Amino acid sequence: MGGDWTSALDLAGTDPADLEEHFEREWFRGREYRHLSAARHGIERGTAVVDGVVVRGYPSLPRALVLDPTVPEFFDGPVAVEEKLNGYNVRLARVDGDLLAFTRSGFVCPYTTDIVSETVDATAFFDAHPERMLCGELVGPENPYTAHDYDDVDSAAFYVFDVRDRESGAPMPVERRRDCCREYGLDAVREFGTVTPAAAVDTVREAIRRLDAQGREGVVMKSADGRRALKYTTSTIHRADLAHAFGLPFDYGREFVFPRILREAFQAVEFDESDAEVRERARRLGEAVLTPAVETIRAVEAGDPVGETHTVRGDPEAIESLLSHFRDQGLALHVERDDREDGERVVTFTKVAHATRDKTEYYLAGGTVDE
Ligand code: ATP
Ligand code: MG
Repeated sequence: MGGDWTSALDLAGTDPADLEEHFEREWFRGREYRHLSAARHGIERGTAVVDGVVVRGYPSLPRALVLDPTVPEFFDGPVAVEEKLNGYNVRLARVDGDLLAFTRSGFVCPYTTDIVSETVDATAFFDAHPERMLCGELVGPENPYTAHDYDDVDSAAFYVFDVRDRESGAPMPVERRRDCCREYGLDAVREFGTVTPAAAVDTVREAIRRLDAQGREGVVMKSADGRRALKYTTSTIHRADLAHAFGLPFDYGREFVFPRILREAFQAVEFDESDAEVRERARRLGEAVLTPAVETIRAVEAGDPVGETHTVRGDPEAIESLLSHFRDQGLALHVERDDREDGERVVTFTKVAHATRDKTEYYLAGGTVDE
């Protein structure tokens, strides 16, 4: 890879050498590439450079803790309200004729690249828009990153929520993006309408009530030009995140759990809940926090592995490189199943949560805490 690869990025005065040292080197099927796994010098986390082609990271979206007055303060024109799906962020780009799938950190995921090549027909889109990337959420039960299940998705599905310029990261306006998805037969996230900023408060409240009842995550509001976005989420997902984190209590920090408890508190106030409703919210939150923690301590006591468990199924080579990527990252994997089915390799594995296992063992064996 040449020394001038940063020239493709708009560095806004940053010394390329400064930026370059933060990029990690990786390999994907014989190609060396670089990616930025943390934001640096105004360049988003997840920005990757493959064969001189720049694929910008997906930006971090601000969140509202209350809808009123945050939404009308944040937007000064029409607000498009879309469903926020709970899967993992994937950017698809065409590089030298190949469709590549990038995860949030800019890793070209061999497993996701294969899934997407089988389930998404993006050829016509990229023939017309080779310089764009499709940003979407990958959801489905068998994936190596997230665990959320949707009743209506039984295998992998990719829902587009953004079409951006690969190199500058500039988004396509919302209406145009939706037309584009229709035109090229790409699945898109659900929409709840486009309304004025003042009306959006009620539209979102209504959508959130419905999504919450269905166990879904929330919404993302966007300005018509796609440049401003704001997220807001359901109580269900706050509890699900807390349950997940408290199931691995020493692997998730306070910076993960504390904001989720506050989201619940602000939501209870905004939804103007009665004392009884607040008590019910508190009971469910308490259960979400304590039940999984108790289960985990019991599991460690019994000597069972603790961590996030996933199943992946696909081309044996893609699975092998995915698993070695995890191991290279320092993850210990506990493999529960490793079979072949119709020429595919099926692996169920747990990303071993070391800190939770080791600290729990230590306390159960009589270790003390300084607090
Ligand atoms: P960060 O805080 O950096 O944004 P995160 O993954 O914790 O990272 P989330 O709270 O999950 O952020 O919210 C942003 C993510 O929501 C996006 O990166 C994207 O993967 C996902 N998402 C799902 N649906 C949409 C949508 N309709 N529009 C935009 N993003 C969406
Ligand atoms: Mg997410």
